[in-house]
Amino acid sequence: MSHVFPRQITAPPVKAVSAKGCYFTDEAGKQYLDGSGGAAVSCLGHGDPEIIKAIQDQVAKLAFAHTGFFTSDPAEELADLLIKYAPGDLDRVYFVSGGSEAVEAALKLARQFHIENGEPQRKHLIARRQSYHGNTLGALATGGNAWRRAQFEPILVDVSHIAPCYEYVDRAEGESAEDYGLRAAQELEDEILRLGADQVMAFVAEPVVGATMGAVPAITGYYKRIREICDTYGVLLILDEVMCGMGRTGHLFACDADGISPDILCIAKGLGAGYQPIGAMLCTKQVYDTIGAGSGFFQHGHTYLGHPTACAAGLAVVNAMFDRDLIANVNTRSEQLMTALREAFGQHPHVGDIRGRGLFLGLEFVEDRDSKTPFDPILKTAATFKKAAFEAGLICYPMSGTRDGQLGDHVLLAPPFIITEDQIGELVGKLQAAATAIPHLAGH
Ligand code: PMP
Repeated sequence: MSHVFPRQITAPPVKAVSAKGCYFTDEAGKQYLDGSGGAAVSCLGHGDPEIIKAIQDQVAKLAFAHTGFFTSDPAEELADLLIKYAPGDLDRVYFVSGGSEAVEAALKLARQFHIENGEPQRKHLIARRQSYHGNTLGALATGGNAWRRAQFEPILVDVSHIAPCYEYVDRAEGESAEDYGLRAAQELEDEILRLGADQVMAFVAEPVVGATMGAVPAITGYYKRIREICDTYGVLLILDEVMCGMGRTGHLFACDADGISPDILCIAKGLGAGYQPIGAMLCTKQVYDTIGAGSGFFQHGHTYLGHPTACAAGLAVVNAMFDRDLIANVNTRSEQLMTALREAFGQHPHVGDIRGRGLFLGLEFVEDRDSKTPFDPILKTAATFKKAAFEAGLICYPMSGTRDGQLGDHVLLAPPFIITEDQIGELVGKLQAAATAIPHLAGH
């Protein structure tokens, strides 16, 4: 009998025993193609000898040193490397152990920045309804996913949620993409003015929405307008690239494609590529210097901040991305995967939208394509699809609650950057097998 506390208590998971390249092997010897990198984590694939060696070397040299006393070579080098490629004025890196921790640090930094900048009244946070920013209480309060929040609602801080930029569902008939993007962004200004022009501390958003919408990028121009609004009202822009960052969308940082840069940026998942738990919060010189010149102390911290072994893994991962030109591969494979998905599902009566950027693509399932009506949640389409894909030997990431009111189902694809063209064919074949195995998707 297992004493591990599984995610799904009623259905304990299969035991994985090894993984190499793009495949997992379970204890029965069955292989699974990793079509989603877990949840957009394993960007280099599994068992990469270079990353393993970097970790082994670091463990032998300096496995851990508390940041209350020390910095370390891997933390310094990784911070330099990230800042070299980071957009805008991002200048400092705060290393944590994952995505939720990066978001928590960002929220507290934003609050402390305003206090030390002489505006202690700024305490309201605005985020978007279809968003996920983590499962710790602050990050959970920030995210808008109603199902994840529901039972914790009474103990969550108050956050305003506006609509995301969700063209497939929200663009009105006859409305141009540009007009729709501006209309969606306008909700931010309206909410800032409703709360009070000098009351808001930050706006938090994912450049390409992952875990609640299945790879939805914003319309061109949306983030430019968001940036303008934040600047006008002195609101910090926090971009959560925990899932979509680190090359996943074909740029090292997802916001590069939107032509803007945030005041604070959160990354995780692909940074450690699954080899070590690591995340990071990047902030601008202005934010950093304000606290430096004020209290001189960011009132936050965890035991494993700047963990040398985790940083060594992150450093090896980012170096590998550049040395092996993997982001170029993301763009090549993205086109192939998108083409294959369109061929397989472009006419499918229950696939309403195929979308995304880079190797961060999603399918949205609908009951009716013309009206874009989602399936009844009782059918648990996304969860059923995950199960059918797993049976077919494919790991993909399902999500329900794509629309307001917990409606909508999608599946997210985020394969390793090293995926080959043949493996893309295999991935799409397995998606088709899964769709065929589900009566209400197969249409029989
Ligand atoms: N932000 C985003 C955008 C995420 O997708 C996730 C994880 N899915 C998180 C934050 C939380 O990251 P973690 O699970 O590493 O705490």
